[in-house]
Amino acid sequence: MEYFENINCVDMGRICIPDSDYPRVVVVGGGFAGLNLVKRLKNMPVQVVLIDKNNFHQFLPLLYQVATSGIEPDNIVFPFRKLFNQNPNVLYRMAEATGIDAENKRLNSTIGYIKYDYLVLAGGSAVNFFGNSGFENFGQGLKTITDALDIRSKLLQNLEKATITCIKEEKQTLSSVAIVGGGPAGVELAGAFAEFKKYILPKDYPELKNVEMKIYLLEASDRILQWMPGKLSEKALKYLTAQKVDVMLNAPVKSFNGSTVTLQSGKNLNAAAFIWTAGVKGSSIEGLPSGVKTRQNRLAVDEFNRIQSLDKVFAIGDIAQMKTENYPSGHPMVAQTAIQQGKALAANLMKILNKEPLIPFEYHDKGSMATIGKKRAVAKIKNLETGGFNAWLIWSFIHLMSILGIRNKILVAINWLWSYFTYDKGDRVIIRRAPGGKG
Ligand SMILES: Cc1cc2nc3c(=O)[nH]c(=O)nc-3n(C[C@H](O)[C@H](O)[C@H](O)COP(=O)(O)OP(=O)(O)OC[C@H]3O[C@@H](n4cnc5c(N)ncnc54)[C@H](O)[C@@H]3O)c2cc1C
Repeated sequence: MEYFENINCVDMGRICIPDSDYPRVVVVGGGFAGLNLVKRLKNMPVQVVLIDKNNFHQFLPLLYQVATSGIEPDNIVFPFRKLFNQNPNVLYRMAEATGIDAENKRLNSTIGYIKYDYLVLAGGSAVNFFGNSGFENFGQGLKTITDALDIRSKLLQNLEKATITCIKEEKQTLSSVAIVGGGPAGVELAGAFAEFKKYILPKDYPELKNVEMKIYLLEASDRILQWMPGKLSEKALKYLTAQKVDVMLNAPVKSFNGSTVTLQSGKNLNAAAFIWTAGVKGSSIEGLPSGVKTRQNRLAVDEFNRIQSLDKVFAIGDIAQMKTENYPSGHPMVAQTAIQQGKALAANLMKILNKEPLIPFEYHDKGSMATIGKKRAVAKIKNLETGGFNAWLIWSFIHLMSILGIRNKILVAINWLWSYFTYDKGDRVIIRRAPGGKG
């Protein structure tokens, strides 16, 4: 197969992509969904162009460990070019997709436009602050590796500031963290901060020995890990409480001004770090017909991941909302949905090219889990519901196996083993300051 014969860039504004005799599949986003799609299309009779604003895939489930100095950022990212350098039919361009011109079958981006035969939107989701400017200006979401590094910098900078001030209340506020959202990201983050507090703070910051670092986990509903069986939610709550995390249930948050969190109830909590894990929305893209976007800014798709009313345009992963009988609000926004939709669409694209009937997407729930610190987790896998050390071993194995690249797997395993036996953590350096008002 020859993919690089005619390079034609006469048309200004067009991204330079070699012409090909094969149909062109443009994929926006190399997350779990996009990556699994592209992997299945490599060496197939299509030209694949992957567009992502980052030049790497990020393993989001371990972001919280980067944010709490558990592992290095490089361990959970993998460059696209390295992934596909043996596959001449896969091209990568670093760009942000900005809009679709469906009539002319063009995707617009920050580096120009590209023509497509098939377009797949797999841009994932973004943090949803629900328009609260206090959360947005002074708080921090956790959706990308940059967010994780910002949180790490913010906490370490705050602790440095806490050592400088002589006012005890200020020390307390600067060393405290409020996490909003009792889903897996919030729970895992709270557990990891608790370990930081127990094992690192006394060693690295002896100046703060008379100050108690407060870790608040604020959940609007009456239980954490809502999608888990009640018994496991209770277990997770017990583990967090034992680690001295202040878990507050039925505690919706009203505002944050940089140092004080105000709950809807009127109660105030002092914390200079505010991490929002309580809402996401589909990534934005312009040019879609009205009616396609759902309430959460996700894109309504049919059972083949086609966006209705657009020809040959698909959406997969977090950005897609496929309502089915079993999932009337769409499938859960988790890695398995994205992976399975990526694979299913690759198979269906081949069927389209071969003029065969398509297979509707069927989600296989492989279970869910969350870890609390380095020795405990809760897991529900099919009929198995377990908590504690065994669940933690399962969690560790599955996550280690899911990270891309042997080198990354080994480095993460070393970091975990090191931390397990020495009670120490990895990177505690402020490489760059948390930006803007977040510093
Ligand atoms: C902190 C955290 C922890 C999580 N933990 C778990 C877990 O333990 N288990 C689990 O199953 N799920 C977990 N999830 C959810 C899971 O990570 C997502 O459901 C999954 O990543 C969705 O995959 P995706 O491919 O749709 O999107 P993503 O993985 O978000 O990928 C989207 C990609 O699109 C790119 N992109 C976005 N917009 C544009 C644009 N306009 N132009 C170009 N590129 C663009 C991004 O750079 C990114 O590479 C977690 C999520 C977070 C944030």
